[in-house]
Amino acid sequence: MINSDTTIRDIKAKIPDNIWSQDPDIIAPYLSEWRGRWHGKTPMILRPRTAQDIADIVKICAQYKTPITVQGGNTGLVGGQIPEGEILLSTQYLNQIRSTSVNNMSMVCEAGVTLENAQIAADDIGLKFPLSLASQDACTIGGNLSTNAGGVHVLKYGTAKELVFGVEAVLANGEIFHGLTDLRKDNTGYNLSNILLGAEGTLGIITAASLKLFPKPTETIRVMAAIKTPQHALELLSCVRIGNHLSMFEIMPALGLEYITTHIPNMRDPFTENHPWYVIFDWEFSDQKDPQNFAESALGNAMEKGLILDAVIAANESQSNALLALRENLSAAQKPIGATIKHDITVPVSDVATFIQKANAAVLKHTPDCHPLPFGHLGDGNIHYNIGQPENLTGEQFMALEPDINDIVYDIVDALCGSISAEHGIGILKKNQLAKRADPAKLGMMKRIKTSLDPDGILNPRNIL
Ligand SMILES: Cc1cc2nc3c(=O)[nH]c(=O)nc-3n(C[C@H](O)[C@H](O)[C@H](O)COP(=O)(O)OP(=O)(O)OC[C@H]3O[C@@H](n4cnc5c(N)ncnc54)[C@H](O)[C@@H]3O)c2cc1C
Repeated sequence: MINSDTTIRDIKAKIPDNIWSQDPDIIAPYLSEWRGRWHGKTPMILRPRTAQDIADIVKICAQYKTPITVQGGNTGLVGGQIPEGEILLSTQYLNQIRSTSVNNMSMVCEAGVTLENAQIAADDIGLKFPLSLASQDACTIGGNLSTNAGGVHVLKYGTAKELVFGVEAVLANGEIFHGLTDLRKDNTGYNLSNILLGAEGTLGIITAASLKLFPKPTETIRVMAAIKTPQHALELLSCVRIGNHLSMFEIMPALGLEYITTHIPNMRDPFTENHPWYVIFDWEFSDQKDPQNFAESALGNAMEKGLILDAVIAANESQSNALLALRENLSAAQKPIGATIKHDITVPVSDVATFIQKANAAVLKHTPDCHPLPFGHLGDGNIHYNIGQPENLTGEQFMALEPDINDIVYDIVDALCGSISAEHGIGILKKNQLAKRADPAKLGMMKRIKTSLDPDGILNPRNIL
């Protein structure tokens, strides 16, 4: 790696000993990720405690043009947080909640605060930070903002970038950008915090963020409904989207429920009969007089229209958690079944059923007996389109088909005016597809922004472009 020896020498001389390490045992856990798809290498890990530490480190790297890979909670699914020879900078110890404000309904979190701890801090002052992912005990606010994470509550609250007033970040020259603010209105030129959101660490290292908080609902009603087809799910979505109550609407097929109840301990099918598809949804209430009555009447209406085959309403918090666990453990439940080719796509909500039908037909024609498993955030038009290996192929043989299968799936997405990355980002995994499919003008603007903010390409240099 260019000049990394001199960089390492200067870091050792100028940065406190407790921040850097070259011990392979300390470094090892940071070099592979959740899916086991990427295994990286690095000459040194840095675990700074403050934004100023990061600024000092980046200044040294900038001087010698030494590349850095940034890592938060290491739950990213596109490989961007795993170094391939770059110096690794973990934000793990940048984990203070700097302030909370009930009046401004805001909170300043450092980048390494886990999403779960951010939610708890909001809850402690009687408010809600609504971002919610299955990885929330490990993923960090910096990672969430850099990937513009989605999760199950986008339907009501938006993606991570909609939950931010502004960020503090270290730029590629080591300067600290002071974008923390509680202002709900500020039209003083370009919104520079926004440029860093969803940039996957290519334009700056986020060190803290001022987050938007929301009133806590007084009651949440969670429902799991059995349905016939994804088209019925779409019609049900329109039927239960009443007022501003619907905050989650997830779909999964029978195969998903079967994997979960087979492979994940303590998971139970809440229905007595098998059904082809299921949706899980939440209504949040803060002012409704009789939420239970509202829910029963909405479900009765959906049943009369023939949209629901059967339904269960969670009676208490533990039942409610058990229903969501069925959805949230879907990714983990696919691990034991062998190799899986995964996609995180989005199409206009109205086209989700068409996408599932076309994609299933096309991949089964290409690879008969494979196991498509479309599931996810139907309310946002976001489907995790995963395909399990057929019994007649080894995992290796199946993964060799990935480029062809990706093209089949993404061609359908393009034809429906969708996107090849709904919430996981581009990282390393989808770079080639982005280069092939993105609007050339968009790619040109992205490259010019990157060159202008990071002329020597030292921040996450292998990500996105
Ligand atoms: C079980 C499971 C469920 C998941 N569910 C969802 C889901 O529902 N929705 C969803 O959107 N994602 C989901 N994810 C993906 C993942 O949790 C998110 O992408 C998350 O936002 C990543 O956060 P992280 O802190 O782990 O980031 P990392 O994995 O460490 O990094 C992700 C990217 O952000 C960059 N980065 C990290 N921190 C910073 C920083 N401070 N400044 C600049 N760049 C930075 C990294 O370089 C990398 O490119 C899931 C993952 C798992 C394992």
